[in-house]
Amino acid sequence: MCGIVGIAHHPDAARLAYLGLYALQHRGQEAAGIVTVDDAGIARTHRGMGLVSEVFNEDVIRSLDGTTAIGHTRYSTAGSSILVNSQPILVRYRSGTLAVAHNGNLVNADELRRELVQAGSLFQSTMDTEAIVHLIARSAQPTPEAQLREALLRLDGAFSLVVTIGRVLFAVVDPRGFRPLLLGRVGDAPVVASESCALDIMGARHICELEPGTVVRIEGSQVDYLEPLPPKPRTQCVFELVYFSRPDSFVFGESVDLYRRGLGRQLAKEHPAPGADSVFSVPDSSNAAALGYSEESGLRLEHGLIRNHYVGRTFIHPVQAGRDAKVRIKYNAVREVVAGRSVVMVDDSIVRGTTSRGLVTMVRQAGAREVHFRVASPPTIGPCYYGIDTPTREELIAATHSIEEIRRYLNVDSLGYLSLDGMVHASAGDPDRFCHACFSNQYPTPIPVDPAKLRLEAEPARAR
Ligand code: AMP
Repeated sequence: MCGIVGIAHHPDAARLAYLGLYALQHRGQEAAGIVTVDDAGIARTHRGMGLVSEVFNEDVIRSLDGTTAIGHTRYSTAGSSILVNSQPILVRYRSGTLAVAHNGNLVNADELRRELVQAGSLFQSTMDTEAIVHLIARSAQPTPEAQLREALLRLDGAFSLVVTIGRVLFAVVDPRGFRPLLLGRVGDAPVVASESCALDIMGARHICELEPGTVVRIEGSQVDYLEPLPPKPRTQCVFELVYFSRPDSFVFGESVDLYRRGLGRQLAKEHPAPGADSVFSVPDSSNAAALGYSEESGLRLEHGLIRNHYVGRTFIHPVQAGRDAKVRIKYNAVREVVAGRSVVMVDDSIVRGTTSRGLVTMVRQAGAREVHFRVASPPTIGPCYYGIDTPTREELIAATHSIEEIRRYLNVDSLGYLSLDGMVHASAGDPDRFCHACFSNQYPTPIPVDPAKLRLEAEPARAR
């Protein structure tokens, strides 16, 4: 998953992009980058591995001259985690400089790459995104707008994009609308970002969310809507609301915080825990769901687990430090809250089950009498091909185990998952507009024949 921003017509475009990326850090921590374009059409870039705060400093931001900027925070889902795979991609072609930053995953990346390589394209990275650059550069169309459109029509899958061609900024959302992209203005300078929390930090007024299929062209303060991409059924990623986006964001037309509270309320209806003493979240992603569970059930909300926010990249080897080291480095139980109590633990999702299992051990060691585990989404049974970094099906505990088996593995007194229906109906909007393939196996696109090829190369499995 990734975060993207775009800014036009602002004297301090790089600084705004930097601020926006800061707010989108949760969407990608592997690499960050900014491209700026000045009024003469000259592009500058700085990219690096690591967090936004590690990649940029004042001198770098000052050196990124220009009134147009795009930026990217990267969490690799296609292509391995190395600098050449960071974004934005910047090249020079016959219509000037071309830069692209992408949030999502193309499901036809492998076919496109094979075709482009056959035709002579020289790929420099292993990212699916690079195919977009080659398609634009190879287009025989006369104008940048037409070249971009021709390229976009070849793409399938999830693509929210910010693109600069010369000084012109384009923002694109694929026809199914998998990933959010919002438009705002700082004064009269148009800005776009993956989430509204990035518009907030830039001091932008919110204008609107870009609809699926939208292509906008931004030059100076002028925002023009170009011909939309041919429509497809809308499949916005429900996991953006369940887990990925920040709770202070507004995406897919609704407040992430309110949506998650609704998940928690519905979870309490579907899986009450009579006799429990209190409820707490696995911080921070489940805070709002635990609050909803508390509101609905009347159970007191407590802080039973505390998360260390300064974990960063630890050098402690998990094997040496014990199996639960990863969990213990990040969380600790509050003994006074759990000792001798029957507690409800709410988490947003269970992927492999290793975190939950470690947390339950911790809560039991702190003296909990009973642990009732509640999950604010349905069992995760399928990998995502649209930009969320999920492991293979074999590694997803719910794909290969029954609820009772998972309960025993987690060592909890009871386990309750929210229903698919409960999850989509917690939305204030149309419950039919979501992609929930990871929970339902209903994939809205053909899935890649060899999903390993999405990574376009062999690479060692990464621990999350
Ligand atoms: P586990 O079951 O040990 O694999 O981890 C589950 C935890 O990871 C949950 O608490 C989620 O908040 C979090 N989580 C879910 N999906 C992802 C993801 N794609 N990337 C990182 N963390 C995730």
